[in-house]
Amino acid sequence: MALNTSRSGELYVKACTLLPGGVNSPVRAFRSVGGHPLYFKLGKGSHIIDEDGNDFIDYCMSWGPLILGHADNDVVKAIQKVAENGTSFGAPHEGEISIAEMVVNAFPSIEKVRFVNSGTEATMSAIRLARGFTGKSKIIKFDGCYHGHADHLLVAAGSGLATFGMPDSAGVTKNAAKDTIVVKYNDIDALHQVLSHNDDIACCIMEPVCCNYGLILPENDYLHKVRQLCTQHNVLLIFDEVITGFRLARGGAQERFGVHADITTLGKIIGGGLPVGAYGGKAEIMAKVAPDGPVYQAGTLSGNPIAVAAGIATLQKLVPSAYQKLEELGKYFEEQMKPVVSRYNGKMLFVRFASIFALYFSKDETITTVDQVKESNMQQFAQFHRLMLERGVYLSPSGYEVGFLSLAHSKDDIDATIKAIDESLALVLG
Ligand SMILES: *Cc1c(COP(=O)(O)O)cnc(C)c1O
Repeated sequence: MALNTSRSGELYVKACTLLPGGVNSPVRAFRSVGGHPLYFKLGKGSHIIDEDGNDFIDYCMSWGPLILGHADNDVVKAIQKVAENGTSFGAPHEGEISIAEMVVNAFPSIEKVRFVNSGTEATMSAIRLARGFTGKSKIIKFDGCYHGHADHLLVAAGSGLATFGMPDSAGVTKNAAKDTIVVKYNDIDALHQVLSHNDDIACCIMEPVCCNYGLILPENDYLHKVRQLCTQHNVLLIFDEVITGFRLARGGAQERFGVHADITTLGKIIGGGLPVGAYGGKAEIMAKVAPDGPVYQAGTLSGNPIAVAAGIATLQKLVPSAYQKLEELGKYFEEQMKPVVSRYNGKMLFVRFASIFALYFSKDETITTVDQVKESNMQQFAQFHRLMLERGVYLSPSGYEVGFLSLAHSKDDIDATIKAIDESLALVLG
């Protein structure tokens, strides 16, 4: 069942002469699963077709934005209509107000919102705002949570329970890292200790559900306890809902878990597949953002009419029945996986929450810590990934990444995927 990927292979060779690693974002290069990346020419609904004509059921879904599927008709029409009237003004337009209203209505903790061009920009700006608002300088992040590639967020845990961060990338200075304290996700005592011994902390930034290091759910009441501690210590809580916003529910993890953040960052889905990010919170906090306040933040293309139109067209379709459908689809996937998982009991694990899933080659029965994900077998994942490609299923090319269901996926897609998983697991684990 070898896949013909010769044209992708040729393109990759040329790309490598022009782009670092042949790509514009590192995971795309397939380094952790081996082989070369595939080049895509078409996406429609749940399917993508590469330059060699191979047709895949897609679960990467551009890493989360495409909750309606590829090239949704309404999104495409909205983009076309707006583009004809000008692609950018660098001046206000009505669409910005419409999408802001949608965000504010979906998130009770957001009274005002600023749009930017990526999730990275959103978290970077949210942290500057938290520092500007509180007048404090340190931040807390959680091991395994990803918030884009700003210097002070590319920080890894040192050794020990909770530590001052170490640069996690060349080019990040010790100085940029030293104001970031890293604690373990799902470890409330570690957070408690840091907060009790430090009075210069501006904010805690976290993914309420960890979706960038496998899929790790918050343990019982964890988010409520984090909220309590932050309030108690006068520290702003930033929920990075770039993935979970409009995905777990219209109001994101905050709606799902009933916990409110002080500042929320958004991205991915709110751009409907175009480059967008946003950060928002209470009016009192947002009043610090320029031009109302002293925290500077700007963008030539921020609030871009086309990106905003794609976002609006996407959010308009995310009505309650859409989330019901996604939940049913997710549940169906999980149910169909049960007999498969039980056949390989103790060798692999399938986790699903709403329309997000992850598959681990792990002995553990549940995954609640980053360390467990680290210990899962990534060689087996790499082999599995290749076998799935050969069977027409495109998973994100890394065992640390999650899969996304969209409203375009059907039960037939899932049945075909389960068959591919079953066959592939037999070869990896059999
Ligand atoms: C993707 C992501 C980001 C970064 O967004 P970009 O648009 O890639 O800059 C930040 N936070 C989370 C939780 C993400 O998943």
